[in-house]
Amino acid sequence: MTPRLRRRPVRVGSLTIGGTAPVSVQSMTNTDTRDIAATALQINGLAEAGCDLVRVAVPDLAAVKAIGPLQKQIPIPLIADIHFNHRLALEALRQGADKLRLNPGNLRKREHVEAVVRAAKRRGVPIRVGVNWGSLSPQTRSRFQRRVEAGDDRAEAGAQALVQTALSHLRILEALEFRDVVISLKAFDVPMTIAAYRLIAAQTDYPLHIGITEAGRGEAGIIRSCAGLGALLAEGIGDTVRVSLTGDPLQEVRVSRELLRTLDLKRGGLTLVSCPTCGRCEIDLAALAEQVEQALTPLDEGLRSANRELRVAVMGCVVNGPGEARDADVGIAGGKAGGLLFRRGAVVSKFAEAELLPAIVRAAREEAGRTVS
Ligand code: SF4
Repeated sequence: MTPRLRRRPVRVGSLTIGGTAPVSVQSMTNTDTRDIAATALQINGLAEAGCDLVRVAVPDLAAVKAIGPLQKQIPIPLIADIHFNHRLALEALRQGADKLRLNPGNLRKREHVEAVVRAAKRRGVPIRVGVNWGSLSPQTRSRFQRRVEAGDDRAEAGAQALVQTALSHLRILEALEFRDVVISLKAFDVPMTIAAYRLIAAQTDYPLHIGITEAGRGEAGIIRSCAGLGALLAEGIGDTVRVSLTGDPLQEVRVSRELLRTLDLKRGGLTLVSCPTCGRCEIDLAALAEQVEQALTPLDEGLRSANRELRVAVMGCVVNGPGEARDADVGIAGGKAGGLLFRRGAVVSKFAEAELLPAIVRAAREEAGRTVS
């Protein structure tokens, strides 16, 4: 398992972030929070897909009043995302939010910060200080610009700007002896984000929510997010992750889970190993791999809830096929117009090409049944 830097544990409802807790998966709803039915439906879908905690936007009083009813309909902790308005933060706490995302430096008056901190303390609710590149102050941006123009490294200068801003918010909370804090420092720029998290990880022991903000959509957004988050997680940095993608948040959850499983930071689910094929392949391996994936995807949820792994290998020929197929729970190594089926490391039988799909799917379902029962 990838070793992780040990951070101060923070409790969010039924979940712990930091300490020895596994890295958790976060997402954010894109429904109108005031539409309680639609938001609850989306959160329940995210939870089923493996989301551990969810954030909702709280732009006004109607949205904050939805938190209480939502809490009764969802199985995971809820974070209220609030900007500038201490009254919304106080009401979110009254409604039972499990965590606030709120930058104290953005509240206008000291007494407003104090009131929110007192209420959060009383209820044992943590606050995430979340600094995004897009919301840095004009002064901080100008300082950054001057440094870059003077020849300073862009990623380092940007990272320092993000960290200094986060520390300024943190100092406000620490002055009020509030340390139930999670920190995030997000930018679209991946090297800058990585540098910022390295810096803050060295300077504080608060747990870190990591993400690449506004990463985009589709393949580009996934690659950008995984490059940044993967680099940090491989260094042991990151206690909770959000992959921010334009579109259905379900995709964020699926990508986050797969990333964590790839780094051996989360267990449970289906893993498909398949080769890229080459001139040695004598079966239609690409089509077979796709059909196997489609047929076995429904097993994923059961495996995930049982915290069990099932590894299936679909390989084209004898060069790498038998090795990968043996390492999997179920695998095939293609040959001339057919292939060998392996199960738990041993050859079971030889099948003609047309029989490979039903044979591997049947064997995988049986292994999954054995695994999750
Ligand atoms: Fe080519 Fe065989 Fe490797 Fe697949 S397993 S890429 S067919 S050499």
